[in-house]
Amino acid sequence: MTIKKKSISKSNKSKQIKSKENSLFDSAKINFLNAAKSLKLEQDVMNILSNPKEILQVNIPIKLHDGKIKIFKGFRVHYNDTLGPTKGGIRYHPNVSLNEVETLSFWMTFKCSVLNLPFGGAKGGIIVNPKELNPDELEKLSRGYIRAIYDFIGPDVDIPAPDVYTNPTIMGWMNDEYNKIARAHVPSMITGKPVHLMGSKGRDDATARGAYYIIKEYVKKWKKKPSEIKVAVQGFGNAGYHISRLLHNDGFKIVAVSDSKGGVFVKKGTLDPESLYNFKNKNKTLKAVYCKESICNIVKHEKITNEALLKLNVDILIPAALENQITKNNVNQIKAKLICEIANGPISHDAHEFLIKKKIEVIPDILANAGGVTVSYFEWLQNKSGDYWDLEKIHEELKTRILKSYNEVECAVKKYKVDMRSAAYIVGARRLSESIEARGSNHL
Ligand code: NAD
Repeated sequence: MTIKKKSISKSNKSKQIKSKENSLFDSAKINFLNAAKSLKLEQDVMNILSNPKEILQVNIPIKLHDGKIKIFKGFRVHYNDTLGPTKGGIRYHPNVSLNEVETLSFWMTFKCSVLNLPFGGAKGGIIVNPKELNPDELEKLSRGYIRAIYDFIGPDVDIPAPDVYTNPTIMGWMNDEYNKIARAHVPSMITGKPVHLMGSKGRDDATARGAYYIIKEYVKKWKKKPSEIKVAVQGFGNAGYHISRLLHNDGFKIVAVSDSKGGVFVKKGTLDPESLYNFKNKNKTLKAVYCKESICNIVKHEKITNEALLKLNVDILIPAALENQITKNNVNQIKAKLICEIANGPISHDAHEFLIKKKIEVIPDILANAGGVTVSYFEWLQNKSGDYWDLEKIHEELKTRILKSYNEVECAVKKYKVDMRSAAYIVGARRLSESIEARGSNHL
């Protein structure tokens, strides 16, 4: 099947296919520009970090079960590779756009820098509603995407991983397709693979676990027992389920969770995330790919909309679904004391300014959800060395690294007298600018 590639380009050519809608990206960049001012960064460094390095857009033709060919549009963006090969997930969603992928790759650049990982930032995505495809079509699409972007990725160039509506099964198919083209075993070209396909132990709950370690550290200052802390979680996928489970196991009260179809909540006591998860999975037809059921179908619960969940009177609100969930339209109704952004970009820039004024603290995405890429780094290291770690070591290393970064961000909060998001951008931007400057002016 012919794959049509459109432009593997260097930065100057990226403008040719740049999307017109730019609000998400522009709004995301404000945080970096403010950090750059605090650090008095050189204009050249600011220019480099304000633009993606290169963009690939592809059309992937897939023969569907009815014999018709459908073309799916996909993207891969390398934002910046100053700190190392670029790294970032692949999203399958009907609302994927070039602007969204650019923004996600920008966030990955700063996230890897905040965590001091030897990676730059990238992201990929396909415009598709994966729930409308059967397993065979989904596999064909995933393999087609890898064929289309093969020259743009690689274990020392750009290493993809899972994101919304992609998972270990899909990473396994992608690795297999890459290996077939390369005529070699190259497990380090992608992370988030199944453990029996050279994935890493602990990658499944790594994103949530990183946030869990930070939340546990943060709430020490409240001097409350976990059973006195109420939590609401928006999004009950990989990240949302695991953060609910980990906090629930420690005694936190999980009062509400939701997925794309709506949510459930309890006025008293706590939900049991594990039984909700089992319920959600019970009727699925395709093991380990997509759930058929929504958690709304569970009996003995009160239903709640996603919008209402965000406004609950809880101690901790955890958005773990998509971007722009808290905006200027609903921010004045947020009652949580702390918001931990496990999703990327769930709070708009305007809404964040309002939260700062209301003294609602936000643990920012580029720190809070960095556990995923950190264990992806461990997976890449294990694949390169052939030496596989036990779960205890993964958890220990993750905890050490993420709390070190959390403390660095807290120090920047105090030093620059800023909120946690601004502080995280200062930490990330400082490391990136030092590395750009160390390469010398003739590098460009
Ligand atoms: P996932 O596909 O496993 O789950 C997504 C969840 O969000 C599903 O439960 C879905 O039903 C729900 N959802 C979708 N639209 C929604 C809506 N409008 N309202 C409420 N819920 C909705 O994805 P994931 O891997 O858990 O990713 C969730 C978020 O975490 C994303 O923003 C992603 O970028 C971010 N993230 C994920 C990782 C990772 O390693 N998986 C790492 C860092 C950040």
